[in-house]
Order: sequence, then C-alpha cells, then structure tokens
Amino acid sequence: MKSARITEPNEPLTISDIETPRPHDTQVLIRVKSVGVCHSDLHLWEGGYDLGDGQFMKVTDRGVKYPVTPGHEIVGTVEEMGDGVSGIAKGDKVLVFPWIGCGKCPACKVGDENLCDTPRSIGVFQDGGYSDYVLVSHFRYLAKLDGVDSDAATSLACSGLTAYTAIKKSNQNSPEFIVIIGAGGLGLMGVQVAKAVTDAKVICIDLDDQKLETAKKMGADFVFNSKDPKTDQKIMSVCNDKGADSVVDFVNAPPTVKLGLAILRKRGNLVLVGLFGGSVELSLVTIPLKSIIIQGAYTGNYNDMVELLDLARKGTINPVISKRYSLDEANTALEDLKARKIIGRAVINP
Ligand SMILES: [Zn+2]
Ligand SMILES: [Zn+2]
Repeated sequence: MKSARITEPNEPLTISDIETPRPHDTQVLIRVKSVGVCHSDLHLWEGGYDLGDGQFMKVTDRGVKYPVTPGHEIVGTVEEMGDGVSGIAKGDKVLVFPWIGCGKCPACKVGDENLCDTPRSIGVFQDGGYSDYVLVSHFRYLAKLDGVDSDAATSLACSGLTAYTAIKKSNQNSPEFIVIIGAGGLGLMGVQVAKAVTDAKVICIDLDDQKLETAKKMGADFVFNSKDPKTDQKIMSVCNDKGADSVVDFVNAPPTVKLGLAILRKRGNLVLVGLFGGSVELSLVTIPLKSIIIQGAYTGNYNDMVELLDLARKGTINPVISKRYSLDEANTALEDLKARKIIGRAVINP
C-alpha cells in the first residue's frame, strides 16, 4: 500500500510503498476514502509544540516514534477483518475513532479513552490515514456513516468532537446563557451544537464582524465584537446583570480568558478549549466566593462521536470541506495548511 510518512521532523513526507497489514482477531483493515488534514498533523510534522518563552514540547518526549504515517480523521470502507470481529461487514462505510487508549487506566475504564494516561492514538502514536489502508486494532472503534458524507464526516472525529464535548461540559445545571468565544471553525460548530443540544440562549463573541454574521446565521441569539471595550458590560446586561452560566473559550488566549472570567456568573462554568496559549493571573478569592468551575475539554470519547454523527445525519450540523488533495499531494496539503491557505477544512482522498 502507498503511505505518506513523516520520517523525521520538518523533512518532506515520503510517499512510500509499505506492506499492507493483515488483520487478526478483533482487527479491521480499512480502505481509506478520506482523511482530514488537521493542525495536529502539522505539530507532528514539526516535531512538537511551541509553548512560548522559547520553550518547545517535543512529541518524541510524549512517545511518538518516527517514521509515522499521520492522519487521525479517517473515513473509509471495511476491506478485511479478523476472526473476532462482529457487527460489521466488508464494504461498510465507517468513521474511525482515533483516540485509542490503553484500556486499563481510570479514564479508559469509564470509556474516556481520549484522556488515557498512555494514549495509542491512530495517526500519532501508530500509523494513520495518510495511506491507502489503515489497520484498526478493534472493531469497537468504528462507527457506521449511514448516510453522512465521507469527506464531511472526517472532522467529526477531531475538531467537531472537541466542540461537541466542550458544549456538553458547558450544559450542566440547565444553563440560561452560554457564551461562545471565537467564531472560527470550532466556535461555529460550537454554536450549532449549543443550539441543538441545550436550551440556553447562545451569545457569540469574536473580533471579526463577518464571522459574527455567520454565527448569527448558524443560530447565535446575540453576537458581540470584542473590539468594543464595553463588550463585558453589554453581555452582563443581556444576562440579566448576573453573568453567563457557562463560557466556552475556543480561543483560550489571555484576553479571552480574562473576559470569560469577568462575565461568568456565580456557580459559573468556564470551559477552555483553544490551544492559543499564554498565561493569566487569577484573582484567587473570587474562585471560592463565586464557586466557579474552570475546566478543559480535549477531543471526546467514542459515544460522543456516535452522538455527533447522529446530529450530522439529521443535518443539525454541517461541516464544510473546502479543499481536496490526492495522497501524492500530502506535502502540499500540509504546506497549504501551514501557510493558512485553507479556509475551513481540507481532506486527502487516497
Ligand atoms: Zn484533528
Ligand atoms: Zn488508558
């Protein structure tokens, strides 16, 4: 099979011919139809994350071994399976759950394999979908598409899943107002999900009026441009001067977190999602006095992915794919993403 592989950081991916794996026991071989090109692939290619202040977190320190085939947002058809597989058939169209864990740690035991202590994620710690085929260790990581478009479904395993999990975390204690910070791809997905799964009024904040217009079209009840220095007061007044029940920050930069904390009501819930980075100083006494919760959200578990697929099937959420590449163009795809030439999402169709 043909695979586009990272042999070492920052070197062009090599398109190589490697042996097609044979599935055994519970394993399933998937013929890849579509694989999302994600920012995480860029980090894997660049060898890690810039933490600011000249610090760099290497992916090899987290257990990544090169060469590796990237691609964790995989849609394909079942090609071949081991003896222990049930419930799926050759030719089934499936979305792969890539955030595979160890199966033994406290997170895995409650079904949150995406938060595993020793993750084995596909396309990160084991070979992924920039390839004709991908081997999945267990059939329970597959979800049938049943009518969802192949290309559109890819992001439901990653960015869409993150947005969905974050909104679920914000939807505790019947919130009356949920504020969504950031109207980029993730934030807009958040707006759609919040309107679909919560009863809250949704307030969206961004610096870009055009993006805010889109947020309104997608269902946001109120939008505010945070360039306006009175944004916090305006939001407070919309929220009956008590503040928002939940704030979901899809940017997660110092100014957005400060704003989020300022507009959070008593017993409020701040969910941090974005990976912009930086640091903030917290006024410690307000945390107990207001009894607020600050938490993070990162990808999601298998069940959430299945629920999200259901929302896509009903047409409640509509991920938009803007660009398609062949496997031979894998380097161009990553270069384009790095150069911010891709608006929305891009996929590779091997
Ligand atoms: Zn991704
Ligand atoms: Zn685990």
